[in-house]
Amino acid sequence: MRAAPTYSRIQRFRLPRLCVAVTGSDPANLLERAESHVRDNPFLEFRLDYLSQPAAALPKLRHFLDLHPEATVVATCRRAVNGGKFKGSVQAQLDILTKAADAGFQLVEIEIQSAEELKRDQFAELKNRVGVILSFHDFKSTKKLEEQFADMRKFAADFHKVVATATNLYDNVTMMKFLQSHSGQYEMVGLCMGEQGIISRVLGVRAGSIFTFGAAAAGEETAPGQITVSELRDTYRIESVEASTQVYGVAGDPVSHSLSPVMMNAAFRRETVNAVYLALHAKNLKDLLACVNDIPIRGMSITMPYKEEIVKALSNSDPLTRQIGACNTVVRSADGKLYGFNTDVAGIVSPLEQRMHLAGKRILIIGAGGAARAAAFGLKAREAEVFIVNRTPEKAQALARQAKAKSVKRADLAKLSFDVIINATPLGMNGNKQSPLEEKELNTNYVFDLVYTPAETKLIKMAKAKGLHVIPGLEMFVQQGARQFEIWTGKPAPVAEMGYVVSKTLERLQPPEPAQHEEPPASEKAAAEKVAKPAKKAPEPKKVVARKPKRLVVKAAAKSSAKKTVRR
Ligand code: NAP
Repeated sequence: MRAAPTYSRIQRFRLPRLCVAVTGSDPANLLERAESHVRDNPFLEFRLDYLSQPAAALPKLRHFLDLHPEATVVATCRRAVNGGKFKGSVQAQLDILTKAADAGFQLVEIEIQSAEELKRDQFAELKNRVGVILSFHDFKSTKKLEEQFADMRKFAADFHKVVATATNLYDNVTMMKFLQSHSGQYEMVGLCMGEQGIISRVLGVRAGSIFTFGAAAAGEETAPGQITVSELRDTYRIESVEASTQVYGVAGDPVSHSLSPVMMNAAFRRETVNAVYLALHAKNLKDLLACVNDIPIRGMSITMPYKEEIVKALSNSDPLTRQIGACNTVVRSADGKLYGFNTDVAGIVSPLEQRMHLAGKRILIIGAGGAARAAAFGLKAREAEVFIVNRTPEKAQALARQAKAKSVKRADLAKLSFDVIINATPLGMNGNKQSPLEEKELNTNYVFDLVYTPAETKLIKMAKAKGLHVIPGLEMFVQQGARQFEIWTGKPAPVAEMGYVVSKTLERLQPPEPAQHEEPPASEKAAAEKVAKPAKKAPEPKKVVARKPKRLVVKAAAKSSAKKTVRR
C-alpha cells in the first residue's frame, strides 16, 4: 500500500496550475482517458461519481497510480444533492474517499455539505490520511462568498475551493477580489462556472487560485463553461499567467466563437509579451465598463454590438473613429481613461494596398453597416472612387453622402464595372450559402469578401470560377488584429504567425471542401500561402499610414505606464 503523502503549505508551489477533470463511462474508459492525458498533464481529477460503482473501480485506479508515480491525482465523488452524480450517503462517500486515499490518491475533494454532516473526528481522520480539498459550489450565482467561506474555514482543509456561477461579467471580478483577499492566508481554488465565467478560469490563477480545472476534451466538460485543458494551456498559456500578466480581450455579445483569442494569444506568445487575451462576453456595455477598471484590462477589441455604443465612453479617439462613429480598439490608460481607435479601416485598406495603388480605383462596397462605413471612409481617404449598394437603398445613400461616395442601384450593377467589389454584408457567413451578387454582376478584377467564416464563401467560389482575383476576409481579420497588437504593445505584429493560426483554426472548424473549381490565379495562391504559412523570412505587409496622421496621446499603451504616442 502506498503511504498517502501529507500536504503542507509548501506543496502549493509544486502543484501544476492545471488540473484535468477526467470522467469515464466505466473504469476502463476512465483510465484510458487518464492515460492519454497524464504525460502532458500529470495533475488529474478522477470524477469517481461518474462511475456506477466507484468503490469497485479503486483496485484498477490503484494500478494506474502505481504506474504513474509522477501524477498528482484528486479523487472526487460528489454527491448528487450537491451537484455531482453520486447517489449514495455521506458515509458511503467518505468510505470511497478513504479507500481512494489508501489506493494512492494524494488529494480528495469533499463538499462542505458532506463535511458538515460528518462527525468532527471523521473529517480529521480523512485529513490525516490524505490532502483534502473542501469545496463549495453555487450553481446559480456569485453571491455571499464571504459568508460561505466563513463556514468553510471551520474545517482545517488543505485547500478551500469556492466555485460560483457568473451571470454577468462582473461576477468574475467579485470572484477575483474574493480570491485576492484570502489567498495570502489560505490555499484557495476559485472560479466561476457558466459561459460568462470563462474568464475566471484564466484570471482566477492570476488572483491567487492555486490551480484551475480544464476539461479533458471538448464534450467531456464536468462543469458549465469549463474549457478544454489544451485551450487553457496552448491558447491561454495558463502555466505562465501570473499577477503581472496584462489582460486584454475581445468584448461583444456573443463572442464565444471569436477567433481573436486564438490569434492574439499566438501573437503575444510569439513576441514574448506577458499578456493574456480573453473573450469577454458582456451582455451590456455597463457590465463591461465596470470590469475594465477592476480587472484591470489594458486593451480591448470591440465587436458587435458595441462598436458604436463604446464611442461615448471614450476620453479620446483617432480621427477615423470619430468620422466613422465606430471603434473596434480600446486602450485603457493607467488612470482608467479609455482611448479608441478604428483598425477595421487598416484591415480593409492594407490587403488592397498590397495589391494596388488605390487612388482613382473604382471600388464597389456592398452593404452600409459598420464594416461598409470603415471601407467607405478608408478608401475615400486613399482617393479611390467609391460606390455603395445596399439592401436598404436609403442607408447606402446616407453613407454615400457622408463619405463623399456614390450610391448605386442594384439593378444597374450588371452594366457597371469596377476594379474591386467588397462584400460588407453577412451573406455567405457560417451556414449562409448565399452570395450578395450574381455572377453577371461581378464585373471587376478583384473580389474582397470581408466574411471569413467559412474561409471560402459562395461569393469567393463564384469569383474564382470566373477567373477573378480574390481576397479572403481572413486578410482583413489578421490586418485589423495586427494593428491592434501594435497599438497595445508598440511592437510590430507577427502577421505571418497570426494568419497561420487563424487559417489553421478555420480549417479545423470547417475543413475545406474538395476542390471542384479551376485553379485559382497564381496571385491568389501566393496570397493564401502568405497567410497560411509562417515562412521564416515572410515579408511583413506594408504598414498602413493614415494620410494626415493625427497623433493621439495614450497614457497606458502596453509597455510602460509612461505617456506613449501611438500612431495609427
Ligand atoms: P452590420 O453593421 O450589421 O451591417 C450589415 C450590412 O449587411 C447592412 O448594410 C445590411 O443591410 C446588410 N445585410 C444584412 N443582411 C443582409 C441580407 N440578407 N441581404 C443583403 N444585405 C444584408 O454588420 P458589419 O459590422 O458591417 O459586418 C458585416 C460583415 O462584415 C460581417 O457579417 C462580417 O462577416 C464582416 N466583417 C468581417 C471582418 C473581418 O475582420 N474580416 C470585420 C468586420 C466585419 P441593411 O442596411 O439593409 O440592413
